[in-house]
Amino acid sequence: MPKINVLPKNVAELIAAGEVVERPASVIKELIENSIDAGADTITVEIQNGGISYMRITDNGCGISYEDVPLAFLRHATSKIKEDNDLNYISTLGFRGEALAAVSSVSRVEMLTCSENEEIGTHYMIEGGLETLYEEAGCPRGTTIIIRDLFYNTPARMKFLKKDVSEANACAAVVDRIALSHPEISIKLIRDGKQTLNTSGDGQIKTAVYSVLGREFANSLIDCKGEYGGVAVSGLICKPVSCKPTRNNQFTFLNGRLVRSGTIIAAVEQAYKNSAMIGKFPVFVLYVNVPFDTVDVNVHPAKTEVRFSDEKRIFESVYASVKNALSQGDTRPEIKMTQPTFNRFERMTTEQFKQTVIKTEAPKEVVTPIKPKPVVEVVKPTVDTPKTFTFHSTKNQSFADTYSFVGENGQKTVPIYAPSVTEKAVLIEKEIETIIDEDKPVITVIGQAFNTYIIAQMGDSIFMIDKHAAHERILFNKLKAQHKVEVQALLTPITANLQKDEYNAITSNLDLLLNAGFEIEDFGSSSVVVRAIPTTLIGEDIVSLLSEMAESLKNTKSVQIEREENLFHTVACKAAIKAGSHTTTAEMKDLAEKVLLSKDIMYCPHGRPVAYEIKKRELEKQFGRIQ
Ligand code: ADP
Ligand code: MG
Repeated sequence: MPKINVLPKNVAELIAAGEVVERPASVIKELIENSIDAGADTITVEIQNGGISYMRITDNGCGISYEDVPLAFLRHATSKIKEDNDLNYISTLGFRGEALAAVSSVSRVEMLTCSENEEIGTHYMIEGGLETLYEEAGCPRGTTIIIRDLFYNTPARMKFLKKDVSEANACAAVVDRIALSHPEISIKLIRDGKQTLNTSGDGQIKTAVYSVLGREFANSLIDCKGEYGGVAVSGLICKPVSCKPTRNNQFTFLNGRLVRSGTIIAAVEQAYKNSAMIGKFPVFVLYVNVPFDTVDVNVHPAKTEVRFSDEKRIFESVYASVKNALSQGDTRPEIKMTQPTFNRFERMTTEQFKQTVIKTEAPKEVVTPIKPKPVVEVVKPTVDTPKTFTFHSTKNQSFADTYSFVGENGQKTVPIYAPSVTEKAVLIEKEIETIIDEDKPVITVIGQAFNTYIIAQMGDSIFMIDKHAAHERILFNKLKAQHKVEVQALLTPITANLQKDEYNAITSNLDLLLNAGFEIEDFGSSSVVVRAIPTTLIGEDIVSLLSEMAESLKNTKSVQIEREENLFHTVACKAAIKAGSHTTTAEMKDLAEKVLLSKDIMYCPHGRPVAYEIKKRELEKQFGRIQ
């Protein structure tokens, strides 16, 4: 580590003054960060009584040379920056040069340190800012710093400390966060004599997450990786069904430093928006790396808040990376049944019989991933399947919508008849070419329950599909993928008189609306003319849809992606087949195929699951065919 310099006054003033020592946890944070800056790859933290009476941090870093030790405890003494310009290129965790000075003024500090180019180390003690010992001493390379009796000379501040256990928990949380941010460093925490954390330091994020957050959690996470405009994002995110009611498990590391960034949290949550239930928050450990000169870390004394020079770029990169990971790594929730409470060989009483109701558990606890490509036995048709078949529809052809379906291998395209929203009995014939894909799993539609849930079988599982949620998601994805929406020009254009704010929202988003299939013209004085609409919306009340769309456009702030998604969401919801409505077998088969063969269709845009899976094995267990 370079020589320690006392900062010139102007640099010192550039650094906003801030209180570093608030509680034991803030001391632990500063001291571990010093060890990391010193290049240590093994750090041991020991605390007693929540850190109030004793904290010890031992590292194998570069150490401090004999003559520099007293300097390290001076205010604004740092080896990490020299002049004002260096503040723009901060790569170390510390740079303010105030932690040791602040800590030593409110506690009794003992340091043992030996730098890399010294034979013999230094033993130093400082109490309430006054040096009490400064001598040479034999010790291993690296630094051990012991803080005793924090706030012993400032009783007023002592009073603000919480119970030992709360302070200890806060210290542990700091150590956890640092362990997650540096999987390449082995970090150990000993709490009142008991080791509570030990990370391997093997450099693997997953191993660190495993040690810190536990095995169950580590297994429900999805890998996330992406780069956009110089912003690199990597890490782990949770499956949408595993979102939690609090934001406690959100970890963002910006250039290796734990930060709380509203922009990053918003970007992640936006990416989950149409997959997670409202009121639930994603769990994530994300490492975001940006060029050092595009971020200001000096906005908050504890350096936990940051400011970016280009918020939009950060938002978009994080959003895209998370969105991408979600679309690739998620799996469908599975329904597991509880075991029958009676012995199946005993005779049941009528009472017991009545109680044998199949209970389903909440999906979040029982998510068992299905393999991305289900291994199923392909049942070959016994008769020659015609390459083309004729489909008789009772619907007006103009309502029909032809979708492109890209198979799992990403190549085959099967145009399929898709359901329409209104029932107009006009008999037409439509020829659909079906490419028979030998690898495609066979999907059999068993029927539908309550005119709402399609029951389909694929491989060794039965799926229950919410037809509205499924169709809504399909339409939403289609709009988002900017696939050409089938548009129908209206013979009689619709003129709509809107409220002033609705009118403003619509007319300032005409391009966006055009992407969604609406050709709208500004007619002045709060009215617009609708000339064309998506084919799927024929028969719907377009004027009230306009108000709904205006609502979704005006409720959102300026982020383009968000406005667009809200709009598509409104359109998809309106155009999707309704629960409880009649659906033909062909329509059900089409929906089931789209849902079960596409990994993108997991949740409706409101975050409700589209389908649940019941494994054959689960049924067999339930019926006592297998144990
Ligand atoms: P800062 O970290 O902001 O520079 P500190 O008061 O935390 O300020 O530390 C002052 C200086 O003491 C550091 O710049 C560094 O040179 C030295 N130092 C502190 N802790 C260690 C350590 N564990 N190993 C090596 N050097 C250290
Ligand atoms: Mg420091």
